This record gives sequence, C-alpha cells and structure tokens, in this order.
Amino acid sequence: MSATAVAPFSLKDFLKSFLLVELFKGMALTGRYAFRPKVTLQYPEEKTPLSPRFRGLHAQRRYEDGEERCIACKLCEAVCPAMAITIEAAERDDGTRRTTRYDIDLTKCIFCGFCEEACPVDAIVETHILEYHGEKRGDLYFTKEMLLAVGDRYEKEIAAARAADAPYR
Ligand code: SF4
Ligand code: SF4
Repeated sequence: MSATAVAPFSLKDFLKSFLLVELFKGMALTGRYAFRPKVTLQYPEEKTPLSPRFRGLHAQRRYEDGEERCIACKLCEAVCPAMAITIEAAERDDGTRRTTRYDIDLTKCIFCGFCEEACPVDAIVETHILEYHGEKRGDLYFTKEMLLAVGDRYEKEIAAARAADAPYR
C-alpha cells in the first residue's frame, strides 16, 4: 500500500489565507478602476471610430456624370476566394463594355477586400456600413442594382474614406 502525499504546512500561505490578503488585493484593484473614466460605449447610440479601410457592405460606384465605373474586366470575380461574385458582360451600342449582371452573394463573402484591391477603376468597394441584415438567405444576395444603390447613397462617405486612405496606398 502506498502512503498518500501530504503538502507541507506553510505559515506564509496560512496567514495569507487567514488575513484574506488576496481578497483585499482584488478589492483594491476594483477600487482603483471604479473612479477612472469609463471606456464602455452605449452602442448603438455611441460608436467607436471606424478605419477608412473598414470592410463592410459592398457598393458599386459611379463617376460624377452618373456613368458606372465598372468596365466588366472581371478581375474581382477572378480574385474572389469565396467565388461570391458573378458577372456577365456585353458590349454597349457606344462600343464600351459593361456588366449586364453583377451579383455578390454576401452569405459566401468573407470580406477579405480582394475585390476592391483588384479593381482598376475603384468601382467595387467595401463601405463603412456594418449594420445590415437579411431576414432570409436571398436578402443577402446583392444584385448590380442594389450595389449601385448603396454606392449612390453613400458616395460622399466612400469618396472621403478613399481619400483618407490614399496616402497609404
Ligand atoms: S470581399 Fe473577398 S470574399 Fe467578399 S466578394 Fe470581395 S473578394 Fe470575394
Ligand atoms: S468591379 Fe472593378 S474589377 Fe470588378 S469587373 Fe468591374 S471594373 Fe473589373
């Protein structure tokens, strides 16, 4: 039969335990932070600042004259690791090439930003918008019209974010 090992008696540990030293240390720490300025924000009324590089909801942009930027080069579709982008293109009467279909399935998207990095004309961008949702799967399937509508609505903010990030590109 083997003897059970007994931990040696420590007067120091006994006194620390008896005098509730750890408890008072914890209370002192709580007391130190109790009167400091609070860092907790009351979301959604209060929000943290977002980087100009924040990758939120996608948008398609237009030039100032209203012409859509996208030239249907399909680089974004090719680079997308999630295969979330579907593009169909055709030549217009004026000889320019434009998309006839530009869809992004946001249920597949991993918000990597590769599409906007690949775009030669800054057409597809990821915006600062993070508060959106879908009630059903199809709600997160964004068509060209939906993407252009996001771009039209938030062009000012998108342009400002691109300008703020420009020196670092
Ligand atoms: S952010 Fe990434 S995953 Fe999403 S559509 Fe763009 S390239 Fe694809
Ligand atoms: S969004 Fe940009 S990368 Fe994608 S097809 Fe249009 S021009 Fe090309």
